[in-house]
Amino acid sequence: MPDRQNDEAATAAFAPPLLGEPYLLTPGPLTTAAAVKQAMLRDWGSWDGDFHALTAELRRRLLAMIGDTQGEFDCVPMQGSGTFCVEAMLGTLVPREGKVLVLANGAYGLRAAQILRTLGRAHAVIDKGDYLPPRGEEVGAALDADPAITHVLAIHCETSSGILNPVAEISQAVEARGRKLLIDSMSAFGAVPADAGTLRYEAIVSSANKCIEGVPGFGFVIARKSALEAARGNCHSLSLDLHDQWTVMEKTGQWRFTPPTHVVAAFIEALRLHAAEGGVAARGARYVQNRDVLVAGMRAAGFETLLADRWLSPIIVTFFCPADPNFAFPRFYELMKAKGFLIYPGKLTVAESFRVGCIGHLDATVMRAVVAAARQSLDEMGVASAAPAPDVLGERAALVA
Ligand SMILES: *Cc1c(COP(=O)(O)O)cnc(C)c1O
Repeated sequence: MPDRQNDEAATAAFAPPLLGEPYLLTPGPLTTAAAVKQAMLRDWGSWDGDFHALTAELRRRLLAMIGDTQGEFDCVPMQGSGTFCVEAMLGTLVPREGKVLVLANGAYGLRAAQILRTLGRAHAVIDKGDYLPPRGEEVGAALDADPAITHVLAIHCETSSGILNPVAEISQAVEARGRKLLIDSMSAFGAVPADAGTLRYEAIVSSANKCIEGVPGFGFVIARKSALEAARGNCHSLSLDLHDQWTVMEKTGQWRFTPPTHVVAAFIEALRLHAAEGGVAARGARYVQNRDVLVAGMRAAGFETLLADRWLSPIIVTFFCPADPNFAFPRFYELMKAKGFLIYPGKLTVAESFRVGCIGHLDATVMRAVVAAARQSLDEMGVASAAPAPDVLGERAALVA
């Protein structure tokens, strides 16, 4: 990774994007580079060869990120937000007589189960609550106990708490029993490795507006060609049929229905910036540094993280709200916004919390400013201590293993 501290050009590249625009410390949509926004200032004909070339480049660059040296996978972009793509993946790749084991430890795992319920697909759920990780051993035991399960759905980074789930051990448990793994890597892909050579999966899904740092409007499923081929007729939906999208794209180079042309053009720019930065490793390293600066600074200010260090992802971090009666999250949010930072409310049922994203076009300098803004906001609220109530810390004890 280039030494950003001593590289004026790189530092300038992380300047605030536009005058008066706040930094989005949210896990997508997120802060994008000026060049990504500029790429949207041109209209593209969706039937034209120039746009077909963008689509081909997009698929090629995304496939390269998983190191698919055997040519076993293909990349199918799909219009819509990330959830549309999760639904397309589940609806297309799981046969109608299949059964999915959903590993849930937060909102996105539960949403996947809700999709399956809506589609009328058989499924079982291991629900670990707000933040405990599903472990390989229990996944293996659940698969042994239910031979009807054909697929397992795992969330790579569960964005609702920020936990980085142990997908490697889950993948091993699934592979050892001859079942198929589907990974929702929405908020991790492009920054956390998902190498096809080391992690065994049937398909992995992500979207334009997370770690690749594009703008929202489409997502993509990277799936084994064998799975895509076998999926004809599986899908409950015309517009979300991944098999159909894939075959038409292979044949014509086109998306079946109107593509989000400007979003695709912006995404190509984002992919080029991703490669120029040094690919998945460098993107991940920048986010790790963002997180480390954020967590160290917030802890020094008295805040506590929900998760123990080993489970903290470089994507987003959950902090407990201070117990001080002068603290109120809506006021804290407005004070942070006034300083140029949009943070994210928490999604825990166990305790009051808030989240700060580490992803997007921002670096450690920005994260230091976030910490300073948080300290100042506490002062303005008259909060003497950022410490959470002692009983919520007991929650974290469950996570030391
Ligand atoms: C963002 C995200 C999604 C998709 O959310 P959309 O709002 O539909 O884009 C799915 N899973 C995870 C883990 C996510 O972080």
